[in-house]
Amino acid sequence: MFIVTPISAFSDNYIWLLQGADNQVVVVDPGDAQAVIATLEKTQQQLTAILITHHHSDHTGGALALSDKFSVPIYGPNNCKFSGISHVLNDGDSINILGHPLLVKAVPGHTLDHITYFYDHPDTPQLFCGDSLFLAGCGRVFEGSMQQMLEAMHYFKQLPAKTLIYCTHEYSLSNLAFAKAIEPNNLDIVAKINQCHALRLNQQPTLPSSIAAELLVNPFLRCDTSTVQQNAAAYASSALATELEVFTVLRNWKNVF
Ligand SMILES: [Zn+2]
Repeated sequence: MFIVTPISAFSDNYIWLLQGADNQVVVVDPGDAQAVIATLEKTQQQLTAILITHHHSDHTGGALALSDKFSVPIYGPNNCKFSGISHVLNDGDSINILGHPLLVKAVPGHTLDHITYFYDHPDTPQLFCGDSLFLAGCGRVFEGSMQQMLEAMHYFKQLPAKTLIYCTHEYSLSNLAFAKAIEPNNLDIVAKINQCHALRLNQQPTLPSSIAAELLVNPFLRCDTSTVQQNAAAYASSALATELEVFTVLRNWKNVF
């Protein structure tokens, strides 16, 4: 597995730094070049590549400056609205990063160009999921359809339960407040709130999460459970016949929660 550490940026972004052998590193979604440069100067590590999950500026804003300074490639989706991609990726591609294979999966929804990077390590699989999946939440559906975002959730649900997930925002406590509103009697959510609250009191990230943990607390992965269905229907004041209808109600509800 990769040794992964967060670089904090802006108010609540994490730029994930993946470490390989010989002090070589890769960053995911460097919205802020200076934050990455400061870390590299402190640790004396050598940047060898940049991975982009989607075009939003808080994920791409520092990529060109870093690419120029360190002469490194920028990997990103084939339909990226950010024009700086040097190595274009398609759904299903496998790329070699720091000697390990990363599987590229297109997960449109938050944006149409959103991709994730999955390392299928036998003991500790790792997923770099950008703004598609958060601890107890998922990204807003800005460009794609609810159906596309639900299909992304289905992709995440079938990954190995022990997969560690590296989200790019510290949204956990607000997401968990929403999750608890939907499932007040879910003790896993209560436990996760306590755990995340303690971490934040010590200025620690609540991430990475894991697929196993998300299956217990994330309402967007739990649209097929009866409590979530019932409370989504109560909020919408109508019967919800399909998982897509439940997901859509939850996503719209979260936007105004
Ligand atoms: Zn975004």
